[in-house]
Amino acid sequence: MSYVDEVFERVKRRDPDQPEFHQAVWEVLESLAPVLELHTEYREYRVLERLVEPERMITFRVPWTDDRGRVQVNRGMRVEFNSAIGPYKGGLRFHPSVNLGIIKFLGFEQTFKNALTTLPIGGGKGGSDFDPKGKSDNEVMRFCQSFMSELFRHIGANIDVPAGDIGVGGREIGYLFGQYKRLTRRWEGVLTGKGHGWGGSLIRPEATGYGQVYFLREMLKARGEDIDGKTCTISGSGNVAQFCAEKVISYGGKVLTMSDSGGFVHDPDGIDAEKLAWVMELKNNRRGRISEYAKKFKSASYYTGKRPWSVACDIALPCATQNEIEKAGAKALVKGGTIAVCEGANMPTTPEAVEIFQAAKIAFGPAKAANAGGVAVSALEMAQNAYFSEWSREEVDGRLDSIMTGIHAQCDAAAEKYGHAGDLLVGANVSGFLKVANAMLDQGVV
Ligand code: NDP
Repeated sequence: MSYVDEVFERVKRRDPDQPEFHQAVWEVLESLAPVLELHTEYREYRVLERLVEPERMITFRVPWTDDRGRVQVNRGMRVEFNSAIGPYKGGLRFHPSVNLGIIKFLGFEQTFKNALTTLPIGGGKGGSDFDPKGKSDNEVMRFCQSFMSELFRHIGANIDVPAGDIGVGGREIGYLFGQYKRLTRRWEGVLTGKGHGWGGSLIRPEATGYGQVYFLREMLKARGEDIDGKTCTISGSGNVAQFCAEKVISYGGKVLTMSDSGGFVHDPDGIDAEKLAWVMELKNNRRGRISEYAKKFKSASYYTGKRPWSVACDIALPCATQNEIEKAGAKALVKGGTIAVCEGANMPTTPEAVEIFQAAKIAFGPAKAANAGGVAVSALEMAQNAYFSEWSREEVDGRLDSIMTGIHAQCDAAAEKYGHAGDLLVGANVSGFLKVANAMLDQGVV
């Protein structure tokens, strides 16, 4: 049995009930064969075995009282995955589907993603099975305060710095930060994605979506193409999807779809800047459903319970959740003439779907590279907090653009060096792995 198979079998044996974690681990391990053949030291020092085991996992009870005075109990967790190159860094997800396997998959991915940014941040992830949907602001606040009443013991500006993810936006970060400050009597950059005016970086809300489109631009450039005039299908209508759409529109692309967990809207006339502003108001302030778009704009149709991949497009941009492009969706995209798929969500494409894209020679931008813009600007927020300073929009956006351009170049070069020219998935995995693994070797058996 090869080293990689041996490690993978052990992962599955240890935690048989964590399919998403297995999927994320296998996706990385299977790319590493050429590196492991050349460098036997990784096997000798059991680097893979250490990499797949989080440094620390914390789970805790989160009791809170709803508006009717009833006691509710959720489960909270934080997985501190790897601190070889910096403090643990990664978002918090509040969604009913959250369990330890999901948080471990996200924390594992985060470790390599953070390495690709070239900034000094380790990997972590956390969250809860709490569902903010349909809750009042007061309920969300009471939940966040209870969640932080345990989490505060484990985090700190130089220890572990959480941010947002699904279900955790500016409102939740505010409540979490307030409680951390109250409990510790410290004002420090312990969370990123803070409000502008109290330590938040400009461009942080936009960073994941903008960064994804900068990465897409580089992918297309390598094939002599650009975004101008291209049709794009986007899934999701949350933080990542909104700013992905905004940047696509600014580059002259036409956004045909957006979605939420209820279904998707297809607007053949395009979701332009004005319509997108309406979507942002709907989602961020009124907290409504995307189906309302089709009532407001007569050019659009709404498809209940469906994903947008049946709509023919040049470029597909999945920005909602894991495994949202399966085999059937991938086949439909190939049939519709898609030339590029660039991931905004984490692991939105199943391994079978990736194979279909690769066989069809569709350019594929993997999440851990393409959506690294969010965490990159989070690290820039940490830097600004540490210096008690604030950079302009142009400064942060310029840095984000050059980080994403650099990540693309890095992945492209690693893919070429290890015999997989043009395969950005292999490039991202190898490049992220080498940085983390070498730091682990330097720091001894810890
Ligand atoms: P939001 O909560 O702002 O938005 C999530 C969107 O995806 C919503 O439209 C939501 O619909 C939809 N969605 C969530 N779960 C499902 C599901 N099971 N099926 C269909 N649609 C679903 O989250 P973000 O935009 O922040 O995150 C989206 C993705 O991007 C996630 O994979 C996240 O891990 C990843 N990501 C986010 C970063 C960030 O900076 N925020 C950074 C890097 C990656 P509904 O409202 O109905 O739930």
